[in-house]
Amino acid sequence: MTPASGVCAMPYRPLGRTGLDVSLIGFGASPLGDVFGKTDPSEGKRAVHLAIENGINLFDVSPYYGLTLAEERLGEALVGKRNQIILATKCGRYGVDQFDFSAKRVFASVDESLQRLKTDYIDLYQAHDVEFGDLNQVINETIPAMRKLQEQGKVRFVGISGYPVKVLVQVAKAAPVDTLLSYCRYNLLINDMDVDLTPFAKENEIGLINAAGLHMGVLTEEGAPAWHPAPHAVQKIGRELAVTCRERGLNISSLALRYCLDHPYVSTTLVGMSKTNQVRQNLELLRIKTDLKLLAELRQVIAPVFNRVWPSGRAENRS
Ligand code: NAD
Repeated sequence: MTPASGVCAMPYRPLGRTGLDVSLIGFGASPLGDVFGKTDPSEGKRAVHLAIENGINLFDVSPYYGLTLAEERLGEALVGKRNQIILATKCGRYGVDQFDFSAKRVFASVDESLQRLKTDYIDLYQAHDVEFGDLNQVINETIPAMRKLQEQGKVRFVGISGYPVKVLVQVAKAAPVDTLLSYCRYNLLINDMDVDLTPFAKENEIGLINAAGLHMGVLTEEGAPAWHPAPHAVQKIGRELAVTCRERGLNISSLALRYCLDHPYVSTTLVGMSKTNQVRQNLELLRIKTDLKLLAELRQVIAPVFNRVWPSGRAENRS
């Protein structure tokens, strides 16, 4: 892979014991489904192509993002390029309040995703936001169904995703998986992923994917989308951080994402992108180092809301 002129070569890390090497920056495709506001589909396609040309090889999507729109657009963009990348999608979540973790739905869902993504295999198939399911079902029905798909060659590896880190550990202990996707639990605003999840993943050599290094838009100049679940105080601090960085001629997103890329065990950090300028800006991070002095200053601003979480999932699964 030859990077565009001026851009540093992409580092790759092993994804647990899968044998796959994934790019340090992963492409989160939810914005392609207009989750963060309307996007231009041709620009989205160019963003995907630019990312591939510059060595980003992990693309993560779900039928939930834009209610299948993100999968459709990603599938379009990947025509002729499918075999250059590692494709991750999900099953189990189909709307804000629509969940179905039954084996029947898993088997139907994979075929629907394959069709939208215009491919005949998925590299990583993940049960999406397991905390919204009955964990007994996830453990005894969903994951075994996904393993069946692996035997059939429709998917190569199996993982789970979710917000409460303890639930991810609980499920993975009972039904071994190849990867764990955690979101909004390790970035400038929070680090509790490292308390429970990272040591477990490391000990068991499970691939660890850190999603939403920008805290789903909180750590951007634009700020969080209206649907964002973070407490108001967290979103307010995000805006303050953006101003502090801007006053110094810096961009909050660059600082926040670079911080995530420095994590020593995480295989890849997923960042949601739908524009070529975002891809370029995020690739630029490969050549910069975290400004530790500035980071220490920002820590003071963040302190009142550091590690603040929100409830997600069934009452019995919130942790
Ligand atoms: P994110 O933290 O990556 O933030 C995305 C927002 O940041 C978008 O508005 C995007 O336009 C903007 N952005 C990206 N690069 C930027 C830059 N350089 N400057 C300014 N703004 C920039 O949030 P996300 O997209 O929700 O998370 C990343 C990906 O992780 C998702 O697309 C998805 O693939 C995955 N994810 C999975 C789960 C799950 O499985 N439960 C949850 C969250 C995220």
